[in-house]
Amino acid sequence: MAKLSKENLLLLFTVLGVVIGIGLGYSLRDPNQAWSKRHLSYLRFPGDLFVQMLKMLILPMIMSSIITSLASLDSGTAGRLGIVSMTYYTLTTFAAVFLGIVLVTVIKPGKWTTTNVEDLVGHVKTTPCVATAVDTVIDLFKSCFPENLIEATFRSQKVCLKFFNGTTEIPPEIAMTMSPEQRAQFTEVPEKIVSDGMNILGLVVFSVALGIVIGIIGEDGKPMKNFFKSLEACSMKLIGWVIMYSPIGITFLIAAQIVGMKDPGQELHRLMGYVITVILGLLIHAFVIIPLLCVVLARRNPIKFVGGMAQALLTALATSSSSATLPLSIKCCEENNKVDPRVTRFVLPLGATINMDGTALYEAVAAIYISQCVGNDLSLGEVILVSLTATLASIGAAGIPQAGIVTMIMVLIAIGLPTNLFILIFPVDFMLDRLRTTVNVHGDSIATAVIERLCEDQLQKDTHTKHLEESDE
Ligand code: ASP
Repeated sequence: MAKLSKENLLLLFTVLGVVIGIGLGYSLRDPNQAWSKRHLSYLRFPGDLFVQMLKMLILPMIMSSIITSLASLDSGTAGRLGIVSMTYYTLTTFAAVFLGIVLVTVIKPGKWTTTNVEDLVGHVKTTPCVATAVDTVIDLFKSCFPENLIEATFRSQKVCLKFFNGTTEIPPEIAMTMSPEQRAQFTEVPEKIVSDGMNILGLVVFSVALGIVIGIIGEDGKPMKNFFKSLEACSMKLIGWVIMYSPIGITFLIAAQIVGMKDPGQELHRLMGYVITVILGLLIHAFVIIPLLCVVLARRNPIKFVGGMAQALLTALATSSSSATLPLSIKCCEENNKVDPRVTRFVLPLGATINMDGTALYEAVAAIYISQCVGNDLSLGEVILVSLTATLASIGAAGIPQAGIVTMIMVLIAIGLPTNLFILIFPVDFMLDRLRTTVNVHGDSIATAVIERLCEDQLQKDTHTKHLEESDE
């Protein structure tokens, strides 16, 4: 009872943090004079500390939790968990993309207002990389096997296409404003670029492999297993402490976001149809599809389950990052919803990087909305292309703020639209990012309950075998 009230108190403080953050943000906001970046960073400082503490714990937590859970599973159970997770992720991501495509095709938000595309695209601030769907798939596989494990803990690599006119390089800002036909006249050279941020997928793959090996080699693997088990216990304790701080962090993250926000009035009016379509899609996915899967496949009460995840969902809303929320997702799933740690510690780290239902839905809506704005009606083949590339784009997106808008460029390339058109939806992206991140975390958490149920027999068999082994010893 005492424990329950402590948790409820923390949740209450977190909700209060959201409310106070919104109030503080609006009261400090000066519509006549924008805050300087420095002052804004002072206001965000307590929130930055929260995000940094969460990120600091990702590495020890991912490695220790994956390795410990896999090292204690037999290879049959580990294999089944892997196959069931990947199948479930793919199906739910496709369902989200399909829902997005249906809504955007029926609502046709691109026809709601006449947008002067030429005007908007004239002063574009582009991203410095042009990547196609094939590049993204290749990047994805390459990042599964980082060439340097230490480097993978702080930066990742990807391919960037550079365009050459004879020997002179065309700046990416210019290359991105060209049509595919114009671009075809230049020489394309793929170049490896590095970006800040952990290569989580690479670390997950390495940990999975190491965990399986430790389980297979038996006696020789025991010291490693004990080491990671102890690291896992320490990480969980540390996460518990960081969670205590979350209401303060969340308050200041939200306040700073509101203070620094440019007046979205006019843009919001222009993008109203698009915003409504994305939000409607996210709501249907979060409140109908996912809960239905929770009832039918996991046979659990979705309202209770979501209640147990509240702390993690609010953190996702405040940080816009599935990866930063990961420590909380694990804790909430295990402690509040009593999901088997052997499942959560495998399914959640993987899901935070590759299972992003909210992002997939948004990618599909955004790409079709943009093509509607430029008066380009998509053929059935192009719609199928959107669904495939949107799925890939969501898998390729890192669990960090606004990663989705970068990978959406790939969807635009696939349907032959100039990549700088993403600027059309950019003004409201920070807001939609928070919502889709929350749906991403929600989808991952329900996935643990579904996968636990689908692998129930195998997990029980595994527990039984372990008991027998222990009693033999
Ligand atoms: N911010 C999202 C996440 O962390 C990714 C995205 O930009 O859609 O899940």
